[in-house]
Amino acid sequence: MRILFILIIFIITFLYSAEIKENKWRNGETLLTFFKRYKIPLNLYYNLDKEEQELVSEIVAGVEYQLLYDEDDKLEQILIPIGDESQIHIVNSDGNYSLSIIPISYIQKNERLVINIKNSPYIDIVRATNSSVLANELLSAFKGGVNFKNLKKNDTLVIVYNQKIRLGRPFGTPQIKASMLKTNNKETFVFLYEDKYYDEDAKEIENFLLTTPVTGARISSTFSLNRYHPVLKIYRPHFGVDYSAPVGTPVKAAGDGKITFRGVKNGYGNTIEIAHMNGYKTIYAHLNSFNKSIKDGRFIKKEQVIGYVGSTGLSSGPHLHFGLYRNNKPINPLISIKVENLLITGKDREKFLDYTKQMKSEVYSAIADNIKATKYERIEYHVKLNEQHINKDYSTKVHN
Ligand SMILES: [Zn+2]
Repeated sequence: MRILFILIIFIITFLYSAEIKENKWRNGETLLTFFKRYKIPLNLYYNLDKEEQELVSEIVAGVEYQLLYDEDDKLEQILIPIGDESQIHIVNSDGNYSLSIIPISYIQKNERLVINIKNSPYIDIVRATNSSVLANELLSAFKGGVNFKNLKKNDTLVIVYNQKIRLGRPFGTPQIKASMLKTNNKETFVFLYEDKYYDEDAKEIENFLLTTPVTGARISSTFSLNRYHPVLKIYRPHFGVDYSAPVGTPVKAAGDGKITFRGVKNGYGNTIEIAHMNGYKTIYAHLNSFNKSIKDGRFIKKEQVIGYVGSTGLSSGPHLHFGLYRNNKPINPLISIKVENLLITGKDREKFLDYTKQMKSEVYSAIADNIKATKYERIEYHVKLNEQHINKDYSTKVHN
């Protein structure tokens, strides 16, 4: 209720007060340097708790934030997105600054598109929609299920997805609900179901499977994109899973990949980032130290030791913060950790099949009506854009 209240107040003040400015978050900027620039008391930063410090480390260069000024040109409020679901809300009431994490309110617009492949799925989707993030999501969805090299000109691609709209403007990573590729008269479907991609037979598409980064550790905090803390009455997402373990416990790479970052990352402390196949990325934070042989740009194998558990950054006790991202959007790491059963069975299977039946009829009616994509002039992103996947076959040209 309180959150809703804040939102309403904010929107009202936004609509009626003096001036709103929009800026892009600078490369290399941290919340601390940002506060210095806008002459905001630094205590506001130092008083953040550890979860807030983790979250504010997720602000992405290039993201657009809003500043609200009153009639006397005094800075009153600031909104900075962290991911698609949350934002930092800073309020200045007569020199008293406060900061809270609040949800982004948005609506989901159902979108469908039918494309006859001309160049490659990636290029054709970007041309039709202006959304490279949608194209990346599609590649992630089909990888492991379809060989894009076998596509031919005029093969059919259908996507059923949701586009987030905020204050009338499209933003964020679209959610692909279902997609179908038709080549050589063979239809291949993928369905997003509980954040994982499945084929028609309820079998998971094995595009990325992880191992647990620390053996035998207890999970002390789970993943949530939009968790509301019922006791503290605060909104508190957590972009990863915390494993508590003694200082010095070896941390292993959750999958094969390439080290893309090794260093200090604000509230995350000593952090390693690994880019994996198909647009996936993992991060390992609060490390006590790194494995000395692990260097930026180095390829590493699954289960290779990359560092050691610690409590660097702002952390209450030694633990590993482990994050998983698909196309830079945080997703729940636990759903991708290798399990025996990759097939949906029993009651869940019936639910799944009901869902796919509905999705398939949306796909077929889109083809019948030859639905063209909505091409937005500009889409605002809250993630770092990766123009290409690590294996680079995103632009694989189709043949005649
Ligand atoms: Zn954490």
